[in-house]
Amino acid sequence: MQRSNIFRLMICLAITGLISPSLTLRAADKDAAMKKDFAIVIHGGTLGSTVDEARQLEKAVVLKKALLLGTKMLDEGKSSLLTVEAVIRVLEDSPEFNAGKGAVFNSAGGHELDASIMDGRTRAAGAVGGVSTVKNPISLARLEMTETRHVLLVTDGAEKFADGFDETRGISRVPNEYFATDYQRASWKKAVASEAEAEKGKTSNKIDARGTVGCVALDRAGNIAAGTSTGGLTNKKYGRIGDSPIISAGTYADNRTCGVSCTGTGEDFIRHAVSYDISARMRLLNQPLEQAVHTVLHDPEQLVRGGVIAVSRTGEITMQFNSPGMNRAAGDSTGYREVQVGP
Ligand code: ASP
Repeated sequence: MQRSNIFRLMICLAITGLISPSLTLRAADKDAAMKKDFAIVIHGGTLGSTVDEARQLEKAVVLKKALLLGTKMLDEGKSSLLTVEAVIRVLEDSPEFNAGKGAVFNSAGGHELDASIMDGRTRAAGAVGGVSTVKNPISLARLEMTETRHVLLVTDGAEKFADGFDETRGISRVPNEYFATDYQRASWKKAVASEAEAEKGKTSNKIDARGTVGCVALDRAGNIAAGTSTGGLTNKKYGRIGDSPIISAGTYADNRTCGVSCTGTGEDFIRHAVSYDISARMRLLNQPLEQAVHTVLHDPEQLVRGGVIAVSRTGEITMQFNSPGMNRAAGDSTGYREVQVGP
């Protein structure tokens, strides 16, 4: 008898008073009972010490649009992989976020973008780092996963790989200035000045709002996918690559456990293999998703500054952070929808 049928039988017996459900529901049955047909969670980066309220409202509008698209695609039976890519493209095309258009400036006054995507069904993954002319890095990461035997391509090699595709495969090329916005130029100037002050020991160097984007989805077929895209950290050194294109650090997906996308100080997430650690805690220690994420974000022996979104194989969603806030949105097959910009 199938697990779902056994579960139905138990419920019938329980309703008719023949047995007590608490005695008969085994963990696997509980899993089947709680399982959502689909679930999606999106982040738009952590918040720093100062918040621009008008900009936060704009971010909420875009997150809502991305959530609508994602829930519609999953409801129609589209794959989690397709959905994650489509949702991240919306966020990359929105100047409010630090991914694609609106990416932060690096120390050389230009933009270098990182992105990755992972398929929880096969644990295939693709990532690109330090790209400078690809409008939607998440689509190049996806092609990197499906069209090569590699996981990560960076800078000139990634650009050369992009030359093999055109708009019909989701790859449009733009001049590097396309990514610039006045907002990010002003943030860069402020960061340069504050780093100079910090070096002279006059002030401490504050980390401010960022706006990396990520998405994790579970589809009707039970497949999980996760993706992350970013311009990195304001005034980062030329050539610096963060956690977002590093599988196991900023992004991870495994149908046996969960999908994860991270945001925050990338170096912390790389050092502690944060997204893989969350999945490994579930697989090896049997920790529930919520607890696994909480543990890695609050371990006194490892500094991890930022936030995590994740979806488990049963469609449980978590959105946690130890920063002042995180922009986020979530929805699932029960009709639950949530958009939050702030704490
Ligand atoms: N984690 C990203 C990086 O370090 C930045 C962010 O999420 O805000 O590149």
